[in-house]
Amino acid sequence: MFEPVLLRNIDVPDGHRLSTYEAGGGYRALAKVLREHTPDEVVDLVKQSNLRGRGGAGFPTGMKWGFVPKLADKPKYLCCNADEGEPGTFKDRIIMERDPHQLIEGLAVSAYAIGAKTAYVYIRGEYVTAIRRLERAIAEAHEKGYLGTGVLGSDFNFAVHIHCGAGAYICGEETAMLESLEGKRAQPRLKPPFPAAAGLYASPTVINNVETLACVPHIVMRGAHWFRGIGPDKSPGPKLYCLSGQVRKPGLYELPMGIPLRQLVEDHAGGPLPGRRIKAVIPGGVSAPVIPEHGLDVGMDFDSLAAAGSMLGSAGVIVVDDSTCMVKITTRIIEFFHHESCGKCTPCREGLNWAVKVLRRIEAGEGAPGDLEQLEMLCKGIFGNTFCALGDGAAMGLRAALVHFRDEFVAHIEERKCPFH
Ligand code: SF4
Repeated sequence: MFEPVLLRNIDVPDGHRLSTYEAGGGYRALAKVLREHTPDEVVDLVKQSNLRGRGGAGFPTGMKWGFVPKLADKPKYLCCNADEGEPGTFKDRIIMERDPHQLIEGLAVSAYAIGAKTAYVYIRGEYVTAIRRLERAIAEAHEKGYLGTGVLGSDFNFAVHIHCGAGAYICGEETAMLESLEGKRAQPRLKPPFPAAAGLYASPTVINNVETLACVPHIVMRGAHWFRGIGPDKSPGPKLYCLSGQVRKPGLYELPMGIPLRQLVEDHAGGPLPGRRIKAVIPGGVSAPVIPEHGLDVGMDFDSLAAAGSMLGSAGVIVVDDSTCMVKITTRIIEFFHHESCGKCTPCREGLNWAVKVLRRIEAGEGAPGDLEQLEMLCKGIFGNTFCALGDGAAMGLRAALVHFRDEFVAHIEERKCPFH
């Protein structure tokens, strides 16, 4: 039986209050690093744990911290990416609403490790409850000396500021988020330079996801060996999975990284609705290519899903049963990416516009021979040719739907209607 780590406080009454967090051992990791460890030792500890970023890319966190120059003549910044906009994903919201001090302690320990005195939490503007609870938690932490000047009597000074987004999905892309924080239009930046060298205000910057930062105090208290002992060695640790769609028990589940997708969907989330069977699962938010039912015996970790032609992404697991039209789902997803495209590069801006037009006519029973080849040509033109991962994600998702559910697309064109109506 796996004991929750990140979600241990979510059902506790007043789990979001400082007193509850302290009663469960909260802020001891911060006190421990300030008392016993140098910043470099904390970076090494996180490297040894093999913690990989939970925002989608899965980049090793300790390695990312190690890229920050030690002798920079500019201030260093820590930015928390809390702009959780990937459809099907709600894990960071739950952490911030139900246990915000877990994030604040993670921020403080991480900032100490990289030498930052200031952190910004870039939070999705629609997350009103999370914003209010984080604001209150920051005030509580200040009062008790966990934030501010001379944290817990040390010479470490640290402040956390909240910045609310205004509803654009692209702000979840790390360099677009930095542009937005600087008050500019959120469009991705050319890399290099990478944020570790020139990020916020052209200063060295580390950007980590909420769940990633929430793991850090636990690694400090329980050790890298403990963390590495959960799940696959190359992709270890406790993991939050967001289950939604056509399952009996949708919700947020904390389980080891690498759990088989079939076990997650059928055992933990209760399997399909009565009388239905699972047709497909999107395992990592709508940017992740869909997996047909026969592919569900795959581990939910970065490497296993990549080998299976999909990705863990944000672990937003969307279950689709046999009553649902894949052309309809694919059209809604590509419409979403088209709507959220920032317009900076032509393949994404024009290619997705074109793909939406073709998909809509197929869905309406007005598709023509050659439409599927045209969609494939568009995927080829978009993938690998865009400025950021939004275009790639859209192209990969569309291509996977065309490969795995081609018969449904063909049926729409040949029957000149949706066979699911
Ligand atoms: Fe903008 Fe799309 Fe290009 Fe990304 S891929 S920079 S979202 S136009």
